[in-house]
Amino acid sequence: MKIGIVGLGLIGGSLGLELRSHSHEVLGVSRQERTCELAVARGAVDDAGTDLKFLADTDAIFLCTPLAQLQAIVLQLVSHISTKTVLTDVGSVKTSVVREVSPLWVNFVGGHPMAGTAQSGIEAAQHGLFARNPYVLTPVEATPLEAIALVESIIKPLQVRIYRCSPEDHDRAVAWISHLPVMISASLVSACLHESDANVLKLAQALASSGFRDTSRVGGGNPELGGMMARYNKLELLRSLGGYREQLDRIIGTIEAEDWESIEAMLRQTQAGRSQFTD
Ligand code: NAP
Repeated sequence: MKIGIVGLGLIGGSLGLELRSHSHEVLGVSRQERTCELAVARGAVDDAGTDLKFLADTDAIFLCTPLAQLQAIVLQLVSHISTKTVLTDVGSVKTSVVREVSPLWVNFVGGHPMAGTAQSGIEAAQHGLFARNPYVLTPVEATPLEAIALVESIIKPLQVRIYRCSPEDHDRAVAWISHLPVMISASLVSACLHESDANVLKLAQALASSGFRDTSRVGGGNPELGGMMARYNKLELLRSLGGYREQLDRIIGTIEAEDWESIEAMLRQTQAGRSQFTD
């Protein structure tokens, strides 16, 4: 198949590496000429350019730019491609994207590969990023079944676990397990940096080890991506932050009351509950 990718960064570049290794011809479009050259040199695309016309003759196009650019790109793209071309995106938020793009292109399937790293850009693209991870598709009633089937046929060989749900359910679920953790992790780093005793701060920085590395990882990721999560999934993120604040208040109250039994009981519950989210 001839597949286009717009936005040759971490996700777009990694997709290109995978799709080419499954014998697809991959054409890329990115904003900067230098990124296009790097993507070709790294083997993420067969060829790349900065003009969307470059993707005129493709069967499917993956939109892999930051969320803020998606609608403008689709508006430009539609005048160059055949009505049969299937568009899909990889954005971390779905309701706003599906609402903006669906009216512009019938053959559009919202998508979100649940995989990433703290890095960004084409230099960060890597083989195997998606394997064994969930890949969510968020079709709506008007989405043609053939378009969904085509996207699934492209992503299935990447060994992803495919899920389908509504854009709204997607956004509510990822607020809990992706967007909320970014904000909690960021606020952890920020709170630590506010230690007022310079010596203690220095000591804490020297002593930070695996626990801090694990809990601060997602807060130390791509700031643009975190900003987009907050902006485009505002209501669900606020809902999950409210739920988190309630839990924090409960913990503070229990510790102030020196109710050590309740603290331990809660930690026993979370120890067991964690495995319901991770394997
Ligand atoms: P990224 O590494 O910053 O890559 C985005 C790329 O888009 C940049 O390299 C940039 O290319 C290109 N770009 C920006 N504006 C463009 C435009 N107008 N036209 C063409 N190309 C443009 O970001 P990413 O992490 O891959 O994220 C991309 C998408 O994946 C986002 O929608 C995000 O929500 C989603 N996502 C991210 C993750 C994650 O953990 N990172 C996980 C799942 C989904 P130039 O270098 O040419 O400027």
